[in-house]
Amino acid sequence: MGIFHQLATATLPLIPRPIMRKLAGRYIAGETLEQALGCLENLQAQGFTGILDLLGEDVQGEAEARAVLAEYKEGATQIAKRGLDAYVSVKPTHFCLQKDANLAFELYDDLLTHCSGLGQRVRVEMEDHPTTDDTLALFAKLRAKHIGVGLVLQARLFRNPADIAALPEPEPGGRMDIRMVKGIYLEPEEIAHTKPDPIRAAFIEQCKTLWAGGHFVAIATHDEVMAETLMEHVERENIPRELYDFEVLLGVRESLWQSWLKQGRPVRVYVPYGPEWRAYSQRRLRKNPEMLKAVAMGMFRR
Ligand SMILES: Cc1cc2nc3c(=O)[nH]c(=O)nc-3n(C[C@H](O)[C@H](O)[C@H](O)COP(=O)(O)OP(=O)(O)OC[C@H]3O[C@@H](n4cnc5c(N)ncnc54)[C@H](O)[C@@H]3O)c2cc1C
Repeated sequence: MGIFHQLATATLPLIPRPIMRKLAGRYIAGETLEQALGCLENLQAQGFTGILDLLGEDVQGEAEARAVLAEYKEGATQIAKRGLDAYVSVKPTHFCLQKDANLAFELYDDLLTHCSGLGQRVRVEMEDHPTTDDTLALFAKLRAKHIGVGLVLQARLFRNPADIAALPEPEPGGRMDIRMVKGIYLEPEEIAHTKPDPIRAAFIEQCKTLWAGGHFVAIATHDEVMAETLMEHVERENIPRELYDFEVLLGVRESLWQSWLKQGRPVRVYVPYGPEWRAYSQRRLRKNPEMLKAVAMGMFRR
């Protein structure tokens, strides 16, 4: 990590709220559901499908988790009313998994019942490694009851190939819906790849394993080189169109995914929104060297 990167990363939590909000603007749709739906409509008009995410994590109590559920249900209802091709994606600790696994199951179960009635699926996201076991157990329990539930798996974790091998058996003719990511959390080197090349190689191998098992893979990346390697594999192996799409983050390398769309590749855009935008935006800014440089220089000038 270069000196600017280190400096800017360290100063991110100190940036005053209004400035941070401005910097965050490119990564989030806004603070309200209405703004997020407007963003999804706009993307759909351009040919992109969508993912709706209410920002937040680590909720501390049942009332807060139930309020999150209510917001997600309303989001799904509005997606259906407006004829959008989008699904909702939820962090387990936003449903209080870290404190009460039964409550988290109950809330996902309720959301899945609501969404399947609307013809929509739901995705269980993956957070940092202390939550991995509980998230996988939660997913297995949900998958036993609902077909329309998907999962996120993180290629950087050494355990991931074994977790793929242990995925619940899909019903005959069915398939798992897996979003493959590199993993946003900087995990310790005892349990995870930490360098770009091994992470990329693991991602590619794990996608191939999932396809070989007949599963659907949402290739969630902005890594052009890795994406092309995967597309070569898709073409070589005649992997059918219904077994993959690309998933990308709002505000990150838009010209790249615009070009994917032009080439006829299916692209789904992750649209985060809500008042809890700060932690998410800091994670995104940490990954953007140019923006970080500007932040560091700005802090010097101040
Ligand atoms: C739809 C979606 C959902 C996700 N869900 C999860 C999840 O549930 N759990 C989880 O751990 N992770 C999740 N992630 C994040 C993921 O793990 C990676 O951290 C993130 O996608 C960056 O990795 P990359 O594959 O794009 O490759 P990188 O090598 O990180 O990036 C590839 C290229 O994109 C550029 N880039 C990346 N981020 C930015 C940025 N913010 N601004 C400007 N340029 C940027 C890089 O500079 C590089 O050139 C998700 C990602 C996506 C796209």
